[in-house]
Amino acid sequence: MRVLVVEDEKKLNLGLKRALRKKGYNVDSAFDGEEGELFAEDNVYDLIILDILLPKKDGLTVCKNLRENKIKTPILLLTAKDTLEDKIIGLDSGADDYLIKPFMLDELTARIRALLRRPQSSLPSLLKAKGITLNTIRREVTVNGKHRDLTLKEFNLLEFLMRNVNSVVTREQILDHVWDLAFNSFTNVVDVHIKNVRKKIGREHAGLIKTVRGIGYTLKNNE
Ligand code: CA
Repeated sequence: MRVLVVEDEKKLNLGLKRALRKKGYNVDSAFDGEEGELFAEDNVYDLIILDILLPKKDGLTVCKNLRENKIKTPILLLTAKDTLEDKIIGLDSGADDYLIKPFMLDELTARIRALLRRPQSSLPSLLKAKGITLNTIRREVTVNGKHRDLTLKEFNLLEFLMRNVNSVVTREQILDHVWDLAFNSFTNVVDVHIKNVRKKIGREHAGLIKTVRGIGYTLKNNE
């Protein structure tokens, strides 16, 4: 597993590098946004840990640029700012998850494991609902035969909804399953990802994902 750490605080960057290497990851370091984007564009990483406040180019811009350039590597944002707004901006920019500084190493490695987790091979690998097809092995989504670019978390979310087609899943179930961790208070992470998935699958199919007020979501395939 190859990880890129983009963090301008030298001590933190090198500390992360050392700690993750001990856990068996191959780690590269970049110390500003431009360098980070350049490295990430090689598309050789399994995960990018990306600080938001960076010299030369900020992390959110780097994240957006990478997604626009079809780099689908899971991105874990690091943020010192603990406001809801920043979290939403971060996830809107195409990041998969975020961690608020300061954090414990155990917390970081738990997030990394969650982001790198692959679906179990015993489950069916081709899921269909109306015009939407998910290939969970190639991690591809098509809508009416046309390819759609989803981030890893968006993909996992849509996969979870499709595996539970016509049943209601709660935000907590989604968080638990797709993020692997129980977020305490801000289930808005789910709502933001749902919004992104709806946008990406297009207007005609967005309505298949229904909001169940106060509970969660359901993907309907039987209307
Ligand atoms: Ca920084």
